[in-house]
Amino acid sequence: MQVVDLSHPVRCGMQVFPGDPSVTLRSAATVAADGFAVAELHLGSHSGTHLDAPLHTVEGGGSVDTMVLETLMGPARIVAVPGAAANAVVRWTEVGGQLEGLQPGTIVLFCTGWSRHFGTPAYLQHPTLDAGIAEQLVAAGVRLVGVDTLNPDPTPGPAQPGQTPGGTALPFHDAFLGAGGGIVENLTNLEKVVWPEPRFSALPLKLEGLDGSPVRAVAWRP
Ligand SMILES: [Zn+2]
Repeated sequence: MQVVDLSHPVRCGMQVFPGDPSVTLRSAATVAADGFAVAELHLGSHSGTHLDAPLHTVEGGGSVDTMVLETLMGPARIVAVPGAAANAVVRWTEVGGQLEGLQPGTIVLFCTGWSRHFGTPAYLQHPTLDAGIAEQLVAAGVRLVGVDTLNPDPTPGPAQPGQTPGGTALPFHDAFLGAGGGIVENLTNLEKVVWPEPRFSALPLKLEGLDGSPVRAVAWRP
């Protein structure tokens, strides 16, 4: 079996969504001092490669611990969006041709190549997916979407001093999570999945009542 790891390493100070909790990993016990090693983790529910549950943008929506596991693993289709420019909006007319004959339950992963910018300011200026794509995928019975960017919706820049925080527009999230689906963000290495009909899995920690969870996302060739 061939497996490609689609996850970014989780490490201290890694890039996160502007304003999200920072990632800190520190030693709580060591083999030298205690006879065993234990680490203390501080991170947000959307740190690194992670899954958004409906609850992330839908009041009263499902949490990660209640998501149906069958929807989070299975056959996947990778949509190539090569050369997408900074802040470009990808529309259904550009990608629909790659999604013909989609079976309900297929996992759809968008490969823009933007993961190469992870950890740099350019990563925040990622291409985005028009909400019309979410509507088409929901209509086709897709329950899980993945992106190799921070966010399928536009990511606002860091808050400026004196700026009043406004509501964040998340039309793709609203359409897809609103239909009960899940979104995997911050994937990487999607361009290494080169065989037809890959399988994909992104299982969250069973964090009770939470809106998201880091995942170890993988693709494999059965
Ligand atoms: Zn998220």
